[in-house]
Amino acid sequence: MAIKTDELAAILKERIANFKDTLSRSETGLVVKAGDGIARVYGLNDCMYGELVEFDGGSIGMAMNLETDDVGCILFSGENAIAEGQTVRRTGKVVEVPAGPALLGRIVDPLGKPIDGLGSIECKMMMKAERTAPSVIDRKGVSVPLHTGILAIDSMVPIGRGQRELIIGDRQTGKTTIAVDTIISQKNRDVICIYVAIGQKASTTAQVVENLRKYGALDYTIIVASTARDPAAMQYLAPYSGSAIAEYFMEQEKKDVLIVYDDLSKHAVAYRALSLLLRRPPGREAFPGDVFYLHSRLLERSARLSDKLGGGSITALPIIETQGGDISSYIPTNVISITDGQIFLESDLFFAGIRPPVNVGLSVSRVGGSAQTKAMRKVAGRLRIDLAQYRELAAFSQFGSDLDKATQERLNHGALLVEAMKQGQFCPYNLADEIIILYATVNGMLSVKVDELGKTLKALISFIRYKNQELIDTIEKTCKLEPETEDTLKNLITEYSSHMRSH
Ligand code: ATP
Ligand code: MG
Repeated sequence: MAIKTDELAAILKERIANFKDTLSRSETGLVVKAGDGIARVYGLNDCMYGELVEFDGGSIGMAMNLETDDVGCILFSGENAIAEGQTVRRTGKVVEVPAGPALLGRIVDPLGKPIDGLGSIECKMMMKAERTAPSVIDRKGVSVPLHTGILAIDSMVPIGRGQRELIIGDRQTGKTTIAVDTIISQKNRDVICIYVAIGQKASTTAQVVENLRKYGALDYTIIVASTARDPAAMQYLAPYSGSAIAEYFMEQEKKDVLIVYDDLSKHAVAYRALSLLLRRPPGREAFPGDVFYLHSRLLERSARLSDKLGGGSITALPIIETQGGDISSYIPTNVISITDGQIFLESDLFFAGIRPPVNVGLSVSRVGGSAQTKAMRKVAGRLRIDLAQYRELAAFSQFGSDLDKATQERLNHGALLVEAMKQGQFCPYNLADEIIILYATVNGMLSVKVDELGKTLKALISFIRYKNQELIDTIEKTCKLEPETEDTLKNLITEYSSHMRSH
């Protein structure tokens, strides 16, 4: 039976259309060199940058270097799984992670596999790990506060939803603690939290998870973990996967998301290792030239979406570890310039007992001010200046022994302010608590010795809660300090203060 010409044309057209597709998908190559977490593959001529490749035996890698003769791949599985001579297959796909509400309370690796032993996770959607950031038109300004519950931060370096605020400091200065406390603080505030551990010790991550569980924060938190023992490729991928999961909640569920990258110094180091092994030219501090782009394309993905797109947001708290307090080295300066401000933690303050050791002079929040609650702005307005003056005066008066009364009073006032900013781990404040503490100390309404302030403030808060819970509720609900509320608060503090003096 003769075939009609148009039928023939249709069949040929279909074959031609499918021909290239099937060929490129099944295109295979050969491992010519493997080791140190990378593989060089001969063949795979049409392989794309960032494409996933599959090795014999099912191990997975990603094409990172496209050269004339071969393709450099980074490996997501242990080194021993791959050997020279193995065949490699293109997949035509880029790295994707499953995302959905089922992830809440779970620990996954950067490829989205559960690693908490609680069984498989059913997710609705796959999200590409690398995505372009929302454009300017898709965004709106930062105007809603992200309450951290840490007094020094909420009062002086306020963070808004959709902002990127860097936490920077030497090792063991409480960087992770600030991030964890902020997550704990999001309880009942309808914020999804994601903690991305990059190259951390497994025990450190386990501790973070344990603390989140203990303080009831795991229900709304997802942990994306890559440990120091994981291949560098996994550590490299972790923040992008975390960000993709965050984007799911921001875009699909229109939620506010908080994401912590702990920490990007280790991320840069993992990327440097991969780049050097792939024989890319080293630049400053042996980092490759595109290390700035590595972090900027990640942090640009934090945004507050416009109302048209649902108004969700991603607030990012990247962490950077410095050496000897040097914030002017390569990676710190890069990330400082990408973010909207930084919280600088200092070892000296930490050891002097000022915890969290926030250096007020060097910490800023460039956009958070417009997101600060009216109540907080009202009581904390003078705080920064008062503290700066205190530091200056304290340094100056170190040398003089007899100070006049006014100077002595200002020194005492400053010391009380510094003391009020001290806060332990895992005890974030509510907004109302913060307002009470600040109102009483900034206005100098408590005449106590510095070492008794902590106890007094605690008692004051309990006193006000006992006497007038309504006041607390009003502040929490309206986030404002109207004149009549302020009067009530003032009277209560005065009452407590005179009560204290009479004892
Ligand atoms: P690393 O560089 O190892 O990641 P880090 O900067 O993340 O350290 P943390 O692990 O958060 O620091 O804290 C270091 C130690 O300081 C911990 O033992 C923690 O309990 C303690 N610590 C942190 N913040 C406070 C605080 N506000 N009050 C009391 N102890 C604190
Ligand atoms: Mg840490």
